[in-house]
Amino acid sequence: MTHGCESSVLKAEEIHQNDSRQRLVILGSGWGAVSVINQLDPRKYHVTVVSPTNYFLFTPLLPSATSLIEPIRRLLSRLGGYYLEGRAEDVDFENQLVEVSGVNKSEGDKFYVPYDKLVIAVGSESMTHGVEGLQHCSFLKSITDARDIRRKVMENFEKASLPTTTDEERRQLLSFVICGPTGVEFAAELYDFLNEDLVGYFPAIPPEEVQVSIIQSAGHILNTYDLKISEMTEAKFKRENINVVTNARVVKVNETTVVYSDKSTGKEFQLPFGVCLWSTGVGMTPLVKSLVTKLPTGSQSNKHAIETDEYMRVIGTPMETVYAIGDCATIPQPHFVDRVMNFLKENDTNGDNMLSYDEFKQLADRIIAKHSVLKVFLAHLDKVFEKYDKDHSGTLDMDEIRTFLIDAEKQCTALPATAQVANQQGKFVGKRINVLHSIEGGADAIAKLPQFKYTHLGSLAYIGGSGAVLDLGKGVVYGGLGSEYLWRSVYFSEQVSIRTRLLLLVDWSKRALFGRDISK
Ligand code: FAD
Ligand code: MG
Ligand code: MG
Ligand code: MG
Ligand code: MG
Repeated sequence: MTHGCESSVLKAEEIHQNDSRQRLVILGSGWGAVSVINQLDPRKYHVTVVSPTNYFLFTPLLPSATSLIEPIRRLLSRLGGYYLEGRAEDVDFENQLVEVSGVNKSEGDKFYVPYDKLVIAVGSESMTHGVEGLQHCSFLKSITDARDIRRKVMENFEKASLPTTTDEERRQLLSFVICGPTGVEFAAELYDFLNEDLVGYFPAIPPEEVQVSIIQSAGHILNTYDLKISEMTEAKFKRENINVVTNARVVKVNETTVVYSDKSTGKEFQLPFGVCLWSTGVGMTPLVKSLVTKLPTGSQSNKHAIETDEYMRVIGTPMETVYAIGDCATIPQPHFVDRVMNFLKENDTNGDNMLSYDEFKQLADRIIAKHSVLKVFLAHLDKVFEKYDKDHSGTLDMDEIRTFLIDAEKQCTALPATAQVANQQGKFVGKRINVLHSIEGGADAIAKLPQFKYTHLGSLAYIGGSGAVLDLGKGVVYGGLGSEYLWRSVYFSEQVSIRTRLLLLVDWSKRALFGRDISK
C-alpha cells in the first residue's frame, strides 16, 4: 500500500514535467468525488485524488452491514490519475496549494499539492447539537463503524446470555437506541437482524426483552419524505414494537442511558441502552469549518456547508478554480419573501397594496430570470394567479402575494444531503470542467454554460422485513411487498463496477439462503 503510494507520487512528478495538462485535484473519494472522476475525459486533466479512504463506499448499504466498496485506484486507472492517501488539512486559495497530511504519518509530516482546479467533496459529519456524552455513542459513517456496531451488538447478546447477568442488566444490554432522523434505515436493518437471525440463536434470551427505540426531534420519522410514507413506516414500526419517540430532544448521553425531553412539555425521560447510535443531520468537517472562515468576509454565511453559486463554484474564490459538491456544499437560498414584500411596499405607487395579473406576470418573469428552478412552478401563470387569488377578486393582495412567495421559495429549498444530489453535482462539475478545457469565446461563452439543475429521481428507504418505501415525488408512493427488490435494484448504480455488483448479488443471495453471518 505505502509502496504503491510513494511510487505514484514520484511518477506523478516525473510525468508532470512534460505534461501540459492542467492539474485537477479532487478532495474526497465518496459519492461526489467519484461522480466527477467517472465523468472526466482522460486526455484533458492531470488528476490527483486526496482522501484518507482509498475506496469509494456505497453508503446506502452501510446500515445493512453489507460493505460494498470500490477501490479508488481502480476508478482512477481509466484517467491515468493519481491517488494520495491523506487528509486535506488546509487550502491556500491564493497560491493554489492543498496542505495534506498522510493518514499513517506522524504529526507534522505534511506536504503540499498544487492545483489549477480544485473540487472539494469531503462530505459531512454528524451534528452534535452541543449534547454532552457523545463519546458513549456509536456513529455510522465508515465500514469500521459498521463493524464496531455489529461487534457491540454481538457482545451484548453474549453478555446477556450469561447466567451471572441480572434482569436489569440484560434489559439494558438488549436496548438499542437510535438518535436522529437519518437512523431509520439502520433501525429497520437492526430489527431484522435481531429478530430474523440473532434471537433464534440465543434461546436464553426472550425476544420481548430486545428493544429497538428511535428518538427524533421532528413530529414524524422520515419527515423529509411524503407524509404517507412516514405514516406507513410508523405503523409498521408500531406493529413490530419498535419504540418511536417523536418531538423529543436528547439532553445528555450517559454511559448507559440517554436522557431526552419532550419538546412540548419539557418533561425529561431516561432510556437505558446497550448500544446508542448517534445519527443526526449534516455538520461541517474540520476542514470545511476552517475553509469557510478563510474566505472573504460576507461570501460565506451558512452554518452547515460551503456556499457555492449555481455552477457549484465556491463563492469568494477566484472564478472557475474551486468547486464544492455533495454534503459539504450548499447553494444559498433566495430569501425573496422579505425582499419582494419590501420592494412591493416601496413601489406600490397607487397605494392599493394589490397586484393585477399583468403586475404579477412582471414579478414572475423577474423571479424566473434569477431562479430557473422555478420555471416549472410558474409554467401556467394564469392558473397560478387563480390559485393564489383566494378571494377571486382578480387581484392579489399582500397576504395572497406573501403566500405565493412562501410557496415559491419552498420550491428552491436547500437540496437534501443525499447520494443522489452528490452524484448529480459531481457529474455536473465533471462535465463543466471537460468543457472548460477547450472552450472558445472567453467569458461570454462560459457564461452561456448551463446552471446545475437537480432532478429528483425519488427517495427510497429500506424499512425492513416486508420492504422499502419509495417516494417518487409528486405524491406517488409505493411500498410493501416487492419494493425491497426494487430498492435493491435501484442501488445497482452506475457508480460501482460489474465486479462489485456481482459481489453484492452473491452477498444478497447468501443472506437470503443462510441468514446473516453471526460471528463477531
Ligand atoms: P461522502 O460520500 O461522505 O464522501 C466524503 C469523502 O471525503 C470520503 O471519501 C472521505 O474519506 C473524504 N474526506 C473526508 N475528509 C477529508 C479530508 N479532510 N481530505 C480529503 N478527503 C476527506 N443517501 C442516499 O441518497 N440514499 C441512501 O440510502 C443513503 N443512505 C445512507 C446511509 C448511511 C449510513 C450514511 C452515512 C449516508 C447515507 N446516505 C444516503 C447519504 C449519502 O451517503 C451522502 O449524502 C453522500 O455520501 C454524500 O456524498 P459526498 O461525496 O458529499 O460525501
Ligand atoms: Mg466525495
Ligand atoms: Mg449539499
Ligand atoms: Mg398596485
Ligand atoms: Mg385577491
